Amino acid sequence: MERRFAKAKALMPGGVSSPVRAFQAVGGTPIFFERGSGALVYDADGKEYVDFVGSWGPLIVGHCHPQVVEAIRDQAGKGTTFGAPTELETELARRIVDRFPACEMVRFVSSGTEATMSAIRLARAATGRPGLVKIEGCYHGHADSLLVKAGSGVLTLGIPGSPGVPPDLAALTHTVPFNDAEALERLLAEHGKSIGTLIVEPIAGNMGVVAPSPGWLQAVHDLTKKHDVVLIFDEVMTGFRVDRGGAQTLYGIAPDLSCFGKVVGGGLPVGAYGGRASLMEQVAPSGPVYQAGTLSGNPLAMRAGIATLDLLDEPGTYEALEKASAALEAGLVAAAKAAGVPAVVNRVGSMLTAFFTEAPVTDYASATRADTKRYAAFHRAMLERGVYLAPSQFEALFVSTAHDSPIIERAVAAARDALQQIAR
Ligand SMILES: *Cc1c(COP(=O)(O)O)cnc(C)c1O
Repeated sequence: MERRFAKAKALMPGGVSSPVRAFQAVGGTPIFFERGSGALVYDADGKEYVDFVGSWGPLIVGHCHPQVVEAIRDQAGKGTTFGAPTELETELARRIVDRFPACEMVRFVSSGTEATMSAIRLARAATGRPGLVKIEGCYHGHADSLLVKAGSGVLTLGIPGSPGVPPDLAALTHTVPFNDAEALERLLAEHGKSIGTLIVEPIAGNMGVVAPSPGWLQAVHDLTKKHDVVLIFDEVMTGFRVDRGGAQTLYGIAPDLSCFGKVVGGGLPVGAYGGRASLMEQVAPSGPVYQAGTLSGNPLAMRAGIATLDLLDEPGTYEALEKASAALEAGLVAAAKAAGVPAVVNRVGSMLTAFFTEAPVTDYASATRADTKRYAAFHRAMLERGVYLAPSQFEALFVSTAHDSPIIERAVAAARDALQQIAR
């Protein structure tokens, strides 16, 4: 892998196409992959791993599910892109609005970043107020306004904001802690007149998994209503995963706008944003808010998304995901306890993070108290035992429908062994 990485580093910054892939937080050389099958992946030397990264969330039915592969293969023979309407977009849009009652209309884009960036443009246009609230530790992609106290790679690499973001733009982004309704209430009382948008991951996944505490999302909803602020749920990670109708269905809260990505594209590049028709009709060409894309609504990607959402609707799917994920959680908790390694496991449905810390993890401050050196050692020990985890403490681990009991048992056995080793 060292040789491959050296070649890549000569041609691409850090040798990668996205920062956290470079393994800086855990040390060592990133694994170069060649193929995947179900819950398993194989590196370029042929070594097999149980995969809990799942390409960072999209692969909820595992690698190369036959129905997804067939849909892509069939479409590839018909045409990969037309830059014109296809009925496939209508079909995927129908599946989204059926699952998300708060979305009457959607617009397709090609990534989660584009979805959140475009939703914020729309919210700013609709309210005429440029101020934005984001929650500390949440990650919404790499649009300029959103690289302020962000999660994911921004947190992993310890970049508080990013050079290149104009200070005048960053100054429009206010941040408050996750799970802190009082801080939000104070902020809106003080700056409510200039703030028109609030964006949140309803279940944080990009500082590691942090669940909303009971009542918090409702308080966020009520405060945004009171101050006439557009509430955006970034469900790029949680949509179609924690429930077929995402976190908004799980917690019974209707946001004004919702953002999607990852699962909705079934492993191909898709994002989408949606909301009630009166808001969405302000997007061009119905309205004046400009947003476009050469490959938006790409037919190959639509087919992969449709196939994936249809597979998720087979009876018992979410129950099976919950069962496998609960078994993994229980196994990790027991393994950490047996090894005497302090760990807190946060889980909502099939997304989970084991934080190496003793105190509950409820926000950015408590997440960043986790022992990242210990995570790095755990990550290495798991790799040696054939389990591929995200190369950072501040990421989620994803369970797919291909993670059956034997696979979960294999991963838990590896964790038991790895934790014993790092405890020594
Ligand atoms: C991954 C992610 C994004 C960014 O999506 P990309 O497709 O990587 O641009 C945005 N928001 C959340 C919550 C995410 O998890």
